[in-house]
Amino acid sequence: MPTAGHSAYRGRFAPSPTGPLHLGSLLAALASWLEARHAGGRWLLRIEDIDPPREQAGAADAILHCLQRHGLHWDDSVLWQSQRSAAYDSALAALQAGGHLFACACSRRELGPMGDCRRGCRQRGALTPEKPASPYALRVSVPATFSAHWQDTWQGTQDWPLGATLRDFVVRRKDGLYAYQLAVVVDDAAQGITDVVRGADLLDSTPRQRLLQQLLGYASPRYAHIPVLTDSSGQKLSKQNLAPPLEATAPARNLRAALAALGQASPPAHASSVEALLAFALAHWEPAAVPAQPVVSGAATP
Ligand code: GLU
Repeated sequence: MPTAGHSAYRGRFAPSPTGPLHLGSLLAALASWLEARHAGGRWLLRIEDIDPPREQAGAADAILHCLQRHGLHWDDSVLWQSQRSAAYDSALAALQAGGHLFACACSRRELGPMGDCRRGCRQRGALTPEKPASPYALRVSVPATFSAHWQDTWQGTQDWPLGATLRDFVVRRKDGLYAYQLAVVVDDAAQGITDVVRGADLLDSTPRQRLLQQLLGYASPRYAHIPVLTDSSGQKLSKQNLAPPLEATAPARNLRAALAALGQASPPAHASSVEALLAFALAHWEPAAVPAQPVVSGAATP
């Protein structure tokens, strides 16, 4: 088994503590762990607790416990986004100094279908002297010519003409909270992440993150978006549609279900501990075998 830290590869898992892990999140965690360990790299953990209204009491601890029960041990200490305000503020200051931000006090009703500002807040320019009196969000001006390109392990060639389709997005919300797009970019850079492996439900966030990396002078990691797990009726498994939480008492069964959904070789019956299952999975990890549409079998959910 390759040992952690022998290569420059640095991967991460970055759950939001909005609820317990479900099989879909285990798939992302496991794929990211397998990619990192297979490369002999490090695998870091970040708890994205920047949105208190959406958080569930006890979820962060439950996630840490659940990962450990599944043998997915991380390197270094956990990074908690709730403790990173100073880093986010300096990134906002850098964006502002570069002339990339504008204040937008639009109400939800005034925004366009993509959540874009259509009232010309951007044209009104910098934050001062016309800083609105009412609460305002900070948005990034997307240059009209900006286009994001990358080669994605599972999604292939990506070409997103962001400037032509979306001209601005929020980096600090009206309620004062930092937006996910900002925090994730600042922390991927701070943790030296070279490879982001996560669910394809976040694919359309990547162009925004690549723009922020460019504006902030950060290197862009490589991206690998794992296809989203669905149930047999084609419904995406997510916290929003109440995917059942993983049973922490059945980690071996959960790992087997996750490996099957990832199209991986099925571990022999005698591999009964999580350690034995993970060692087998690592030795036989085959990213090309991940199906375009992983489906969970009925037996995998409690
Ligand atoms: N915190 C995000 C989530 O739980 C994932 C962020 C990421 O992997 O970039 O959906």
